[in-house]
Amino acid sequence: MAKYTDADCRQCRREGQKLFLKGERCTSKKCSVERRATSGVPGQHGPTPSRKKASEYSIQLREKQKVKKTYGLLEKQFRSYYDEAARSKGVTGETMLFLLEKRLDNVVYRMGIGSSRAQSRQIVNHGHITVNGKSVNIPSFCVKPGDIISVKESKRDNEMFKELKGAKIVMPKWVEFDTESFVGKILQTPERADVDMNIKEQLIVELYSK
Ligand code: SF4
Repeated sequence: MAKYTDADCRQCRREGQKLFLKGERCTSKKCSVERRATSGVPGQHGPTPSRKKASEYSIQLREKQKVKKTYGLLEKQFRSYYDEAARSKGVTGETMLFLLEKRLDNVVYRMGIGSSRAQSRQIVNHGHITVNGKSVNIPSFCVKPGDIISVKESKRDNEMFKELKGAKIVMPKWVEFDTESFVGKILQTPERADVDMNIKEQLIVELYSK
């Protein structure tokens, strides 16, 4: 995962919306975007009124930064998803989002195994996850429908999974995960409606198409 030097919450304020970078805190009242009615840009006193209208380029750039930060990627990694999507059939922006969603670290997050994408990436990196019975410690591993995702049996007693046992987790319809057995499945390819973030992916396509 890209290591951004700014504090996570500052990045959300910069993008003017919640990017869900800090796990449980993001859905609590402690979230600084929630707390700051004046959110939108970082700074102790909230946004500074701008005299200039944002250019088309800066709007496109901000949209790209937002998605890149959400998935915790560096420019090169993020660009490779766009390039792959552009080579594929289908709508480029949507395909790019589907490729991002199908990363194993994102799947671990979507299944509720990790409380944030950053933590989920760590879980994968530390070898806690198997795909179809084989250990996979590559966060960018691309899952496909039918894949069985599990927390390794030997790791299930780990402190970080204790609260997961029996928990009720809301997850998108393209994945399932049983918090009793710690086994999940990829049910289908994600659809656009499953990417539950305020993203205008066409702006990113326009930016990269220049
Ligand atoms: Fe963003 Fe989460 Fe911080 Fe809220 S708590 S500002 S969503 S990182």
